[in-house]
Amino acid sequence: MVTEVLTAHQLKKEAPVFGQWSFNDHEQIVFCHDKDTGLKAIIGVHNTILGPALGGTRMYDYKTEWDALNDVLRLSRGMTYKAAITGLNLGGGKAVIIGDPKKIKTPELMKRFGKFVHTLGGKYYTAEDVGMETSDMDTVREVTPYVTGISESKGGAGNPSPVTAYGVYMGMKASAQFAYGNDNLEGKRICVQGIGHVGEELVRLISEEGANVLISDINEERLHQVSTMYNAEIYRGKDLYAEMMDIYAPCALGATINDETIHKLKAKVIAGAANNQLADENTHGILLQEKEIVYAPDFLINAGGIINVFAEIEGYGREQIINKTENIYNTTLDILNKAKATGMTTNAAANSIAEERIATKKSIIDL
Ligand code: NAD
Repeated sequence: MVTEVLTAHQLKKEAPVFGQWSFNDHEQIVFCHDKDTGLKAIIGVHNTILGPALGGTRMYDYKTEWDALNDVLRLSRGMTYKAAITGLNLGGGKAVIIGDPKKIKTPELMKRFGKFVHTLGGKYYTAEDVGMETSDMDTVREVTPYVTGISESKGGAGNPSPVTAYGVYMGMKASAQFAYGNDNLEGKRICVQGIGHVGEELVRLISEEGANVLISDINEERLHQVSTMYNAEIYRGKDLYAEMMDIYAPCALGATINDETIHKLKAKVIAGAANNQLADENTHGILLQEKEIVYAPDFLINAGGIINVFAEIEGYGREQIINKTENIYNTTLDILNKAKATGMTTNAAANSIAEERIATKKSIIDL
């Protein structure tokens, strides 16, 4: 979500679009408006050097249009890095639709949005994000082929969450290998915070390997279900961050690693699905490094979902999806080793590998 709100004065005088704090050499920003359906959307195409920009559409009741703009700029940039580090021939993009989905989302609005996506001629592919359902992507598909994440019955790759969980599992095992010299999770005390679509599948995978699983969620019913199914212990204490554990897997919210929690953490490894786990990428990345906590960059290990939707564009099947997701293990190890060798934080090491890949491709294109 938006992390900084500028004052009206700053916005007007100093920060029209190209001066926004979140603007990062984006290639194209498309403002879409339709009076009849009430559509107000922004499509951010950050970078298409590696391939067409792919990223979901988020529908959210933003406080101001500036918040929406900053969100789409920040999120589309993040997608460029996620695709690049995962080795996909994809660029980064994202779209936001302004408004409460429960109040203004209609099939007509989604189709109108799809027509705007279509005008980009395949430079941007959309998908599902917050406030969207698979059925909305099916509606968009009626007016443009440049959409992924559609129903399996309509030729889509289906629910990405199990693939995301598998990638997190791979990243976790690679991090364990780096931290303990062995990637076997048997007997490790692992806390999964958030046992939703991704978290539950992760609990299944690590339980099968014999981990000692601790689960936390605000949904009591799910806690009961998942605990019964996988014999996982429910966390009932008052301060999860101070709990003794080997591995912490944030799978609920972003920014759980922050000024308040970071000093309490006892885990040796952090590897989870949530986006933007570090409240501040720089300062908290450095603090984790100082505490010798191995942090698997979130945008790398939660990339299973994007691999899954990319398969729709490339038309490849289950086996290739799984192979690419398994490769998250090798990439995670490469990044952790690079960070150790260079003294960079793991996040910075991941960013630099992504940037190198884009720069190499650009130099070929520019020849
Ligand atoms: P989800 O909504 O299915 O599950 C989230 C779970 O977290 C829910 O069970 C919810 O009750 C719980 N939760 C919310 N607040 C909590 C709190 N304060 N403490 C403990 N639990 C809390 O979401 P998901 O699809 O499983 O995604 C989980 C995370 O992974 C999200 O941050 C998402 O952005 C990220 N992610 C998901 C995918 C995917 O394929 N689904 C891909 C990439 C990243």
